[in-house]
Amino acid sequence: MFLSVKIAVEESLGWLLPTVERGDVCSVCREGRVVYFRVYSGERLCRSCFVKTFEKRVVRTIGRYKLFNPDDRIAVAVSGGKDSLSLLYVLKKIEKRFPRASLLAVTVDEGIEGYRDEALDYVEEVTRMLEVPLYKTSFEELFGKSLSEIVASKQFRASGLAACSVCGPLRRRAINIAAKRAGATVIATAHTLDDVVQTYFLKAFRGELGTSEIGLRLEGPFIPRVAPFRLTPEREVVFYAYLHNIPFQSQVCPNAADSMRNMIRRFLAEFEERYPGALFAALKSFEKTTPLGKKMQRVCSNCGEPSSRMLCRVCELTHTLIH
Ligand code: SF4
Repeated sequence: MFLSVKIAVEESLGWLLPTVERGDVCSVCREGRVVYFRVYSGERLCRSCFVKTFEKRVVRTIGRYKLFNPDDRIAVAVSGGKDSLSLLYVLKKIEKRFPRASLLAVTVDEGIEGYRDEALDYVEEVTRMLEVPLYKTSFEELFGKSLSEIVASKQFRASGLAACSVCGPLRRRAINIAAKRAGATVIATAHTLDDVVQTYFLKAFRGELGTSEIGLRLEGPFIPRVAPFRLTPEREVVFYAYLHNIPFQSQVCPNAADSMRNMIRRFLAEFEERYPGALFAALKSFEKTTPLGKKMQRVCSNCGEPSSRMLCRVCELTHTLIH
């Protein structure tokens, strides 16, 4: 069974998982058969210890960064991918220990032809299985056009933008709106250690490092966004999803190849492969550059949503590409 899981995870990530030797014994319980080698820590883990340490790390991340309050109504932003559905699964388990907290899921249909429908089916299936209420919205409903329509427009072609530069801000706004409608007090996103470090690099390359924190609870006139997988490598999230048979979309968005993030992702994945632990070290360095828990003060002069500029990106985009 393990070999098929290993191959499936490798295909999904495009990386090879470290090989475990036959007969290896778990370095935590000293009994179980090893299924996962955590190269950066040297731990060889059996299935049960992998799951336990994975979930413990999520709980530790929540505590260390004070991501949730005991009575939060938590909206998990789910796309139908492995990360978000695994996050929903883990938080559902953890939520049982906090009877005053409640969990719901929000999802956005960006309207990406030939891609989004399958992911939305998985979202429906997993939320039904976990008995988590689901709140849906779409670009069409909120902005009057699907992403495919925006990308096909004359204005978009003239703008020189990549599809992701439009999709990202609109999706973040759509999630905020859906979470507000659902009465959520906090939004949990499935950004992993890899995503968070990529975002720090992106910000550094754009000269925006230190302008706002990523995935930490900031107080302000909006629903805060937090990332409970901040200290969890992406490959462990995929492995967790496979071990629990969580169905997810593995097809990659047709627009993804163009993005600047994808270049950084490839570079960082290769770097981590060669120098295990580099992502944790990078996160530590970046955290020193931005004081944690910094308060987000500014809001957009047009819509009142949080923004580091006078006019937020969503207002700029809808003004130039849609209206
Ligand atoms: Fe949107 Fe880009 Fe992600 Fe596709 S890859 S869903 S276009 S942000």
